[in-house]
Amino acid sequence: MEKKGISVGAAIGVGVGASTAALILMIILGLIIWRRKGKRFTRTLKNAPGGIGIISFRYVELQRATKNFSEKLGGGSFGSVFKGYLSDSVTLAVKRLDGAHQGEKQFRAEVNSVGIIQHINLVKLIGFCCEGDKRLLVYEYMPNHSLDVHLFKTDDTGLDWNVRYQIAIGVARGLAYLHTSCRDCIIHCDIKPENILLDASFVPKIADFGMAKVLGREFSHAMTTMRGTIGYLAPEWIAGTVVTSKVDVYSYGMVLFEIISGRRNSSPEYFKDGDYSTFFPMQAARKLLNGEIASLVDTDLHGDVNLEEVERVCKVACWCIQENELARPTMAEVVQVLEGLSELDMPPLPRLLNAVTGGSPISR
Ligand code: ADP
Ligand code: MG
Repeated sequence: MEKKGISVGAAIGVGVGASTAALILMIILGLIIWRRKGKRFTRTLKNAPGGIGIISFRYVELQRATKNFSEKLGGGSFGSVFKGYLSDSVTLAVKRLDGAHQGEKQFRAEVNSVGIIQHINLVKLIGFCCEGDKRLLVYEYMPNHSLDVHLFKTDDTGLDWNVRYQIAIGVARGLAYLHTSCRDCIIHCDIKPENILLDASFVPKIADFGMAKVLGREFSHAMTTMRGTIGYLAPEWIAGTVVTSKVDVYSYGMVLFEIISGRRNSSPEYFKDGDYSTFFPMQAARKLLNGEIASLVDTDLHGDVNLEEVERVCKVACWCIQENELARPTMAEVVQVLEGLSELDMPPLPRLLNAVTGGSPISR
């Protein structure tokens, strides 16, 4: 009897031991599988400068996330941008670059600039894919599209003055950060409404760093081939000399005029019969000096604006587009002025515009 009791006890002991071992084995196996699965989306670049984790995606993952690149958000000369879904809560914008050589250049420019820094007013690079000749960039999705869609709308869905003012400040902060606060000086080189995206709360995010130029801390200028977009290009660039961060200041000034008027500066109505005095930045500079800024504002706002802020934006814009880059403010100074922390003198008429209209320069 006793013998039997012992063998039953032993059998129970062996059984319990075996099931505990099996359970432990299952837990370990489960953990391994879970970690492997997790790794699919956490293959971050550990050695990314600045320590920011950027995910390295496989092409098939992005193909799946974008439903085989079916929902196009936009596109330019170097590729197309598609909507994608990483999970229920994370929506992506996947930029697929075409053209082996140019695509590679754009890809490197974006990863080396916006890939290594973060700021509330810069679009966030989540990851990239570099597989064979495929080059893709993965960004946080911006639900309110780009600024041009709202400024140059045809229906009645424009932005109110307060939102426009906040966008002006936000873009200035983003640029000031790029130029002075991050480790290297980064010149964006293509500031225009199409490259300013808006998040769910209309907070502006500077995007499209495909033309960006990264300068070491000790350098303030670069020799570069002409890039950017006509209408926002600084004159020194057109003249083919070296460029500094002041080319972004110039383009930003041109965007400010468009924020005030709700129209493109290049709109043909400003050049009727070859009369350049109707060019909007020229009208704005003149009306600012004569104290007639109210007539410059987008009529869609029905006069519902803060005229003190309009004057401030107009003054900043006129200083930003001065032909002499040394006369233009830095973006950090622009931020101070727009925040109401410092003031600018009345700007002289921008000389280039003045020459175009045949007037005599007004001295400072
Ligand atoms: P390109 O070099 O082709 O101009 P961009 O980065 O400027 O590339 O993207 C082109 C367009 O795609 C933008 O103007 C915008 O309409 C859309 N887009 C780009 N990135 C995003 C994003 N993160 N969220 C939503 N739309 C985007
Ligand atoms: Mg663009």
